[in-house]
Order: sequence, then C-alpha cells, then structure tokens
Amino acid sequence: MSGHLPRISYTKPSITELEVAYATDAAANGWGERCYDYIVRFEKDFAAHLGAGHAIATSSCTGAMHMGLAALGIGDGDEVILADTNWIATVAPIVHLGATPVFLDILPHSWCIDPADVERHITPKTRAIIATHIYGNLCDMDRLLDIGLRHGIPVIEDAAEAIGSVWKGRRAGSMGLFGTFSFHGTKTLTTGEGGMFVTSDAALYEKVLTLSNHGRARNQTKQFWPDEIGFKYKMSNIQAALGCGQMERIEALTARKREILASYAARLGSFDGISLNPQVPGTVNGAWMPTAVFDRGMGITRDILQQAFSDANIDARVFFHPLTSLPMFDDRRSNIHAWDIPERAINLPSYHDMTEDEIGRVTDVIVNLVASRTSAATDKPYLAKSA
Ligand SMILES: *Cc1c(COP(=O)(O)O)cnc(C)c1O
Repeated sequence: MSGHLPRISYTKPSITELEVAYATDAAANGWGERCYDYIVRFEKDFAAHLGAGHAIATSSCTGAMHMGLAALGIGDGDEVILADTNWIATVAPIVHLGATPVFLDILPHSWCIDPADVERHITPKTRAIIATHIYGNLCDMDRLLDIGLRHGIPVIEDAAEAIGSVWKGRRAGSMGLFGTFSFHGTKTLTTGEGGMFVTSDAALYEKVLTLSNHGRARNQTKQFWPDEIGFKYKMSNIQAALGCGQMERIEALTARKREILASYAARLGSFDGISLNPQVPGTVNGAWMPTAVFDRGMGITRDILQQAFSDANIDARVFFHPLTSLPMFDDRRSNIHAWDIPERAINLPSYHDMTEDEIGRVTDVIVNLVASRTSAATDKPYLAKSA
C-alpha cells in the first residue's frame, strides 16, 4: 500500500564538505613524509575524546580485537567469556587464536552480558571477559570490573557500537584493559571500513603497536626486521582523513543519534509492552541502533515485523541472532534471553539526516501493528496508556 513511498535506509553515513576536503588533501598530498599525518592526528583526537592514554587506528574493529587478544597471549586451551548476543566479529578472533568462546546470557533490559552469569562461569582457564555494549546500551561495568579484579581476569570492551555512550562519567571503551571500535559504514563515526584499538596500559600499547606493524618494533633500527610474527591491520591515511573530519563532528553525530532514539521513545513510550534501548540514570546511551522489543503477549514477532516494514519500504533489521544458534557453534538454549528476545524485536532506522516525517513513518508501522493485534483480542492491555 505504501510501497510507492521512498525507501527509508537503516543507516547511512553523514559526510560533509569537511570530510571530503580532508580526504582530498590526503589523496593529493598525504604521501612520502606526510603519509601518516592524518593517522597520527586521528589517533590523538580519538584517544583525547575517550580519555584514554593510547589509540591505534586499524583496518577494522575485528582486527583491533584480534591483536588485543593476541597481545594478551590468549590461545589454545584458554577460555574467553562473551555475550551470546553479539556480532560475529567479536568471537571470530577468539576462534582464530584457538581459544574457546564461552557464550553467556544477557540481561532482559540492557541486552548486554549478565554479570551473575559471568561470575558463575569463571574457571581456571578464563583469560578474558569481553563486555560488548550492544546497540550503544552499556554493560554493567561496575560489576564486570569488580568480577575481573577479584579473579585477576582482564575485562575488555567491544565498544564498536558505543561511541557516545558514557558509564558514570567514563566513556565506553575506556574502562577495560583495552577497548575496540568500528568505523564501518553503518557505525555512528565512519571511515568506510576501519577501527581503533584503545588502551591506557603503556606496555600493552607497545605490544599491540609492534604486532600491528608486522612485528616490527618502533625502536628497531634494522630495516625490514620483524622481531616476531605480527599482523597487518592498518588504516590508510585517506581513511584517517575521513576520520579526522568525523571526529570534529563527533558531538553532533552522537547527539543526532540520541535525538532519534528520543523521538522514537516519545512516539512509542505510551505503549505498554514496547521496550526501547534503556536510558539508565547516571549513564548516557550513545544510541547507535534504536531497537524495539515487544512483550511476548503482544504476538508481534520478528516475521510479522519484517513483513510490515518491508511492505512500508523501510529497511529495518533483525536483532542479532544468538551466536550459539549459528551452524559453527553448539546450541546454548539455556541463554534464555539471548534466544528469546530476537524473536520479538527489530532494529529501527536511525541515520543522521533522517527527518521527523520518516521517523513518523517508522512508528506508524508499529502503531498500526499494535492496533491490529489488540483489536483482535478481547482484552486490550497494549492500547496507549493515556488517552
Ligand atoms: C560492527 C561491529 C564489529 C565489527 O566491526 P568491523 O569494523 O566490521 O570489524 C564488532 N563488534 C560489534 C559489536 C559490532 O557491531
């Protein structure tokens, strides 16, 4: 019926003349002596923004995680704890290193790893706890850091989705032993592809810096002389130039994300049974991906949502499947929430230049779905709370 309305994308970068000017300068002049200028500047700006000591620009968040885990010496026989609700990028490096991922359940309201489940699954083999701040929602860092401290196990933050998120005054990605970020084209800050490794631990920084340069230490005076096998996960100067432009606009980029989530909340907040990304007191949700979860009793399922949004020519995406439902891992249905929530949830569009009319088109789909489900029922628990 609304198939003739223009398509609403789910994410889309915001690239202005500033980013174009920097990238053009990098392409025209960023060679020879100047071939690292934008990279160095991007790393400095990013570390300063985060309040972290050091940052290393990478080709992806996956690469940053791979190098960080490798630098900790994680490998065969080691266990790494992470949430079952995650993108594949968080677990792939664990598998590549020969370690065993331990997939745990999430909390029903934050959709982030359940600290009590973490505590229960610590073994003598546990070498790291990965806290993924899903969709910009924050993990309970107080409890996770406390568990890590008591057991002598590092907490690592996958902050790929959490630029702009703040936990009690500290930015996501700056609280663990190290943090990783993604600048993929769908993320709040983008360089097309790209990532960042962040730490305030000087020794770990040196280790990863060497690993990131094919094992060549920066104080090695011999040419073409790696001291160990490393990685090649570098960011190019041209990508970093885009990143420098985006960094200058970071407050605007994250503020707009938060505005869009707030607009969804204002339009859907009166409905019982619909939960959006939580805004926990004392924290800031960077709101990378506004997501709606529907109470099971509403009967609004993933399939129904996908069909309704497709009919309205809106690109809404499914909530992450639990990693343990994928073919390469064993099912772990005891992760109740990680398995249950995706069946009744949907990611909503949230790109920078999205208009209020477009946000209205998205919420109309949901309002109509709720109305059609409740009119079929005898009791109407999901009608708007107030007239
Ligand atoms: C996007 C994302 C990544 C991976 O980022 P890349 O830059 O594509 O490697 C990792 N973890 C999470 C949670 C993500 O959303």
